[in-house]
Order: sequence, then structure tokens, then C-alpha cells
Amino acid sequence: MNAPFFGPDWHALAESDPEIAGVILGEVERWSSGLQLIASENVTSPAVLAAVASTLSNKYAEGYPGRRFYKGCEYADKAEHLAVTRAKELFGAEHVNVQPHSGASANLAAYAAFAQPDDPVLALSLAHGGHATHGSRVNFSGNWFTPVSYHVRKDTELIDYDEMRDLARLHRPRMILCGGTAYSRLIDYAMFREIADEIDAILWVDASHYLGLVAGRAVPSPVPYADVITATTHKTLRGPRGGMILCRAEHAKAVDRAVFPFSQGGPMMQTIAAKAVAFREAATDDFAAYARRTVENAGALSGALGERGVRTVSGGTDTHLAVLDLTELGVNGADAESRCAAARILLTKNPVPYDAMPPRTPSGVRVGTAALSAQGFGPADMDGVADVLTRAITAERGTRKGDGIIAEVGEDVLQMVAAKPAYARGETSPAETSR
Ligand SMILES: *Cc1c(COP(=O)(O)O)cnc(C)c1O
Repeated sequence: MNAPFFGPDWHALAESDPEIAGVILGEVERWSSGLQLIASENVTSPAVLAAVASTLSNKYAEGYPGRRFYKGCEYADKAEHLAVTRAKELFGAEHVNVQPHSGASANLAAYAAFAQPDDPVLALSLAHGGHATHGSRVNFSGNWFTPVSYHVRKDTELIDYDEMRDLARLHRPRMILCGGTAYSRLIDYAMFREIADEIDAILWVDASHYLGLVAGRAVPSPVPYADVITATTHKTLRGPRGGMILCRAEHAKAVDRAVFPFSQGGPMMQTIAAKAVAFREAATDDFAAYARRTVENAGALSGALGERGVRTVSGGTDTHLAVLDLTELGVNGADAESRCAAARILLTKNPVPYDAMPPRTPSGVRVGTAALSAQGFGPADMDGVADVLTRAITAERGTRKGDGIIAEVGEDVLQMVAAKPAYARGETSPAETSR
């Protein structure tokens, strides 16, 4: 297609705002020169980026396709219709809302659709892998609702389904929530459904982290079990930064009203178009291969780390992420995080279940393989990743030896990522086309 002006114009930006142009170039460079193990981050395609940077950003389209509060929405309607249709097909969902600006916004809407202020909501404890929007005191969820937490078992570090059932019977919550940010195992949705049915509660799955793995058929789908599923579109799904909600047809009206007008104004049409692009990509065989490789890589990484004395919480992973217990190495998660960052490896400090250490310096870190897998890293590469990771974690900063190791690891990391870059040179184009 002959390309007319549609929005992104690197020359215009580089000329009118060299400072921000420099920031954008710097970020591409930063990403390309490190090992990205932050479990919530990923690499989007140039097609997704192009849609995000389009003039659809200019359009006000409050409402839903065919029922907008503004004129001139014919293209906005087409974009949203494509996004919704593709998502319904991809996930086999009865209803989809693609307007949430983020995962947290999708969750706010889910509360609004099904609960009243002060209602009890049963969710996985934040310290055991839940998300801040699942009842943290610093978040609206913990203030406007009454959080009740279930935990993982001390022996297996898997969800304690017995405790969850007991708490459900005792508190009779409006909603039972499963899914989290640092729980790496498959969830027994059938069990959750059974208990939700017993107490007549809504079963809400927050699949923010792993909906991309569901799309790629690498983990089981919650769609047959859940009343409502919230998710981000930018984690394993590899779409633009944003949120979405899937639900049963009977909840469609409640969910749509909870998003607009209850908790949001105009939708971000450029992001919705990019979500449509991402859903189309997620339906391909290539994407399924990426999703399977992501899970295989996480298993291989956890195994290779085990050989080096790093214990994975619950003994392994079924998804893209793993929580690593560094107790045996004698390093806390905060120190490990900074040592790794100095060695060009990005990951996140994370508590382990029943952590004896304070939240600022927890016993563990969380790693994820989605971004690396999107860049083309495979299971055979994971021994090398485990090697640089353990060398960096155990290198004492501020000592000659430790700083030397960190510098060496940084060089090794540069070589590893140069062989499998996130973006081929020129693909996002800023560097090549600037005059
Ligand atoms: C990431 C995440 C969210 C929040 O998503 P944002 O887009 O950062 O608002 C909510 N729930 C879970 C389980 C998440 O992992």
C-alpha cells in the first residue's frame, strides 16, 4: 500500500523536539542492550506500534460502536468492532469490552459491575502473588471493599483450596477472584467455579499476566468457568499498553456500563486499533509457537537455576514466570535486583510465600520469559541465561572482584541479546531515517 500520512513521523519529531526524540531512541537502545526478565513486560510488533501512533488518537468516541456520543465515529466504530470480534473469536468469549485503559482500570470496572462498597471480596493474598487491585490497603480495592485473603499452602506453595473454600463459606463474598502477578502455577478453575456456585458468588479471573498464553493455547483457558475475566493487553499478549474484559453474555450490560460511563470517559481509539492488530497476531501459528516456547523457557530456566542452587517457589512453573527463592545464596531480592541491573539484567524483587524478610528486602525475585521468547530465545538458551543470572546475583557490588564479575556479565549479556535483538535495525526505524 502506498503510505499517506497516518501519524508517526520521525522527522517531524526529531526536528521539533530533539529532547523527546532522544528519549525514544535511548529507550530502544536500553531495551536492546539488556536481558529483559521483567515478567510483565514484552516486545510489541511494529504493526502494533504503528496503530498506537495513529491519528485515531485524535478522536472522541465516548460510548460503544453504533451508540456514540460524538459524530464522525465511522472509523472508530470499525476499529472497535474488529477488536471485539477478533477477541471473541480468539478466546471463545461471549462478550468482550476492549475499552479499559489498563489492567487496573479493567479491575475497577469489574468491582463496579458486580460489587457494592464494603462487600467482601475473596482474593489471593498480595504477599502470596495477588495484585494491589485485589485488596491492597493503598489501593481503592482495599478501601472501598472488604478484602478477605486466601493463601498458598506452606508445604506445597500452591493455592490452599481448602482455606479458600472455608473462607468463602464463612464470609459469603460477592466475588471470588483468582489470578495474580506472582503465582506461576495453573489454577484449578473448576474448583473455584464449584465454590462460587455453592455460595452464589461471581467468579472473577484476573488473567492480566497470562491471557497471552491462553491465546496461544499454552495454558488452559478460564473462559468456560469464569463469569468475568479481566486482563492487560501488554503482558504475555504482546499488544499495546491497555486492558480488556471478557464476560458471559448475561453480564455484558453490567460490564459495559461499569467501564463507560461509570469509570472511564472517551476510549483510546488508537490503542483499541492496536489491540485489534494484536488479537489478529495472537491467532497465528507463530504466536502459538511463541506462547509454548515461553512456557518451555520458564521451565528450562527454573531447572537450570535449580542446578545452581536457586530454588523456584513451588518447585517449578507452568507459565511464563517463576519466583526464585535466594535464601540459599544468602542474597536478598533488593540486592539481587540492583546487582542484576548493573549487569544489564532486568528483573523484580519479590517476596516468597511466608517470607521472614521485610517487603523492601524480600527473599526472592520474580523472572519471566515472555519478552525473551518473543525475541526468539529458546530452551537451549536458558542455561546461558541461568549462568549470567546467578553470576550477577552472587557478585558483591563495591568489591573489586564483584564489580569485575558484574562488568563481565554485562559484556556476556550484550553478546546474548545482540544475537537475538528485539527489533531488527530499521524495523522501528528511528535511527535509520533521522537526517
Ligand atoms: C499487571 C496487573 C494488573 C494491572 O495492570 P496495569 O495495566 O498495570 O494497570 C492487574 N492485575 C494483575 C493480576 C496484573 O498482573
